[in-house]
Amino acid sequence: MNLRDKIVFITGASAGIGAATAMAFAAEGCKLLLAARRAGKLAEVALRARERGAQSVYSIDLDVRDYRAVQTAIDELPEEWAEIDILVNNAGLSRGLDKLYVGRIQDWEEMIDTNVKGLLYVTRAVVPGMVVRGRGHVINLGSTAGEMTYPNGAVYCATKAAERAINDGLRQDVLGTPVRVTSVDPGMVETDFSLVRFHGDAERAAKVYKGVQPLTAEDVAETIVWAAGRPAHVNIARVLMTPVQQANSLLFSRNE
Ligand code: NAP
Repeated sequence: MNLRDKIVFITGASAGIGAATAMAFAAEGCKLLLAARRAGKLAEVALRARERGAQSVYSIDLDVRDYRAVQTAIDELPEEWAEIDILVNNAGLSRGLDKLYVGRIQDWEEMIDTNVKGLLYVTRAVVPGMVVRGRGHVINLGSTAGEMTYPNGAVYCATKAAERAINDGLRQDVLGTPVRVTSVDPGMVETDFSLVRFHGDAERAAKVYKGVQPLTAEDVAETIVWAAGRPAHVNIARVLMTPVQQANSLLFSRNE
């Protein structure tokens, strides 16, 4: 499928996989709707995306945890941006790595509100238009964490297991329409993910990637664009991808 001029809405586009996905769709000549909370970082991504070939870029300062803000942002899109072709539900985070029985409630709330409720809010606001227009593709960011729970990560893993259920449920609910639904589920990707998880502790974050060549945000972005570019009759349901040195959530082969 030719992606040129498609309107692509990416949540969490200010960093990591979201920013790399913006660049990859920009290179295809897409029109990019970019959303995140950090407006400054989003502006930098928007500038780079234009240089990379995006037809045009429209940035939205948006916290996906705020349902009203999400609905208003979609309802009030300028006419030329309203017909979203591809939604990349990428905004997400992990907070903390603790035994469940000592976990911080605030961390749980933030993960569930962002990764589960935020994803639902954006989906609820965007998909009705896709169904009416008879075209659209929702690409959700899952994780190996949604497939296999790892110690001290029960709540993050639960949010990604929920993503998997929502992805599969949505695909069933749009059956009979041409709307496509895909989950891209990476293992270890080196982004700000661990820095955010450890509340800014860079030393602890760096240890996560020690002795492993992780995936890059660009590796994941390429896969997202690949799924979007399949012919209109092809739906990629789920892509599970890891570094070669990772077998699943638990098993790594680290260099000494
Ligand atoms: P990242 O570099 O920390 O980027 C996360 C993005 O999400 C940022 O742009 C952030 O933007 C945005 N975000 C967070 N909370 C938000 C909110 N409430 N509203 C709007 N945007 C929000 O992490 P990443 O690795 O790229 O993560 C992207 C997605 O991939 C997540 O869903 C994550 O669970 C998933 N994933 C990551 C890995 C990995 O190893 N890195 C593996 C599997 C899956 P602002 O802070 O500016 O709002």
